Amino acid sequence: MRTKSLKTNKINVVTLGCSKNIYDSEVLMGQLKANNKEVAHEEEGNIVVINTCGFIANAKEESVNTILSYVAQKEAGEVDKVFVTGCLSERYKPDLQKEIPNVDAYFGTTELPNLLKALEADYKHELIGERLTTTPKNYAYVKIAEGCDRPCSFCAIPLMRGKHKSTPIEELVTQAESLAAKGVKELILIAQDLTYYGLDLYKKRALAALLEALVKVEGISWIRLHYAFPTGFPLEVLDLMKQEPKICNYIDIPLQHISDPILKSMRRGTTKAKTDALIAEFRSRVPEMAIRTTLIVGYPGETEEDFQTLKQWVIERRFDRLGCFTYSHEEDTHAYALEDNVPQEVKEARASEIMDIQSQISWELNQEKVGRSFKCIIDRKEGNYFVGRTEADSPDVDNEVLIDASAYYLKVGEFVTVEITEAGDFDLYGVPENVAPQEKIGF
Ligand code: SF4
Repeated sequence: MRTKSLKTNKINVVTLGCSKNIYDSEVLMGQLKANNKEVAHEEEGNIVVINTCGFIANAKEESVNTILSYVAQKEAGEVDKVFVTGCLSERYKPDLQKEIPNVDAYFGTTELPNLLKALEADYKHELIGERLTTTPKNYAYVKIAEGCDRPCSFCAIPLMRGKHKSTPIEELVTQAESLAAKGVKELILIAQDLTYYGLDLYKKRALAALLEALVKVEGISWIRLHYAFPTGFPLEVLDLMKQEPKICNYIDIPLQHISDPILKSMRRGTTKAKTDALIAEFRSRVPEMAIRTTLIVGYPGETEEDFQTLKQWVIERRFDRLGCFTYSHEEDTHAYALEDNVPQEVKEARASEIMDIQSQISWELNQEKVGRSFKCIIDRKEGNYFVGRTEADSPDVDNEVLIDASAYYLKVGEFVTVEITEAGDFDLYGVPENVAPQEKIGF
């Protein structure tokens, strides 16, 4: 890459980790653009900003390796400056400054104005939520709150993201309106703990009130809920989901485990009985709801019996979508004082056993969709397929609907009704309804 000859600086923002980091990178890019800076996302640039993740071991390793690779490019004269921000930098700045000194500067998760200054830009308060989205134009993440007040023993997020802080409903509506004006049809609401929304700002749970405001935004067709928490779940959200077609019949609620001794040690504030009661409430109030959850196996002290309880529960509950992580022993978390006594190979064996069960469940649930029709949003064209999602699928983590691109032409970013003709573990295949092959379509 030639750098010296670049007339103007080009800032390349590199995002690692979760959707909240994607959101933060988009806000940074929006600020830089408003300062007339040339900015790109994961493309060439002579100035690099790495938005890191510091959640668990694998993520930290990926962040460190990314920093090292750009520092090597700097030492080779291929890039001029390297800046690091995000969770890893928030959590380990002093160590990183010592161990990788050839980074121009490290910034924490609340230091956007300082980072902008280092990039010769000014923080513009008037840009409420204005950002350069990096997702396909038909959907965007909306971070409704930052930080978390929960005491989960294994989690380092509160160390990196601080206390829970809700964004006012008015600001979120303004964001939604500006996204809709840019053609966004699907809002994916994210936070560390979505269901805690409003307790700090309005002294009461206000997720339902926020949803009531967002469904009024012209142009938005789907609103999706991610990162709910099991205790104190605002059940009125379920009634709203039932009555409001714009609110996807979908919820992502990480439950982490189900064995009572483990839930207690994890300080999750719930029990198997309460969790089962909540899921039963989900199923009875919104029968067609798709439930996504994530689990952790190999937590300190997890016995074979605890694991068998978890396995049996996954078989019985038949979640629509499920992910499973191996426990990562994170310093400065409450669980760090416990002995990380489940061998790594046992952790991994348990995780793959859970995912094998889930693949089977997902396959069986998908077979029930064959012959039925679903409203789908087309996210992209990939190889011989147009790739879309139903209301029950969130981007990047859930199932996809594949439509033969050699037979049909579909408009990316548009909705189309698809009849499912075949189904695998995680992918569905189908044909668009009311469309003659090769005819242009989109509505
Ligand atoms: S609710 Fe989520 S982000 Fe908050 S401490 Fe628990 S696991 Fe971490």
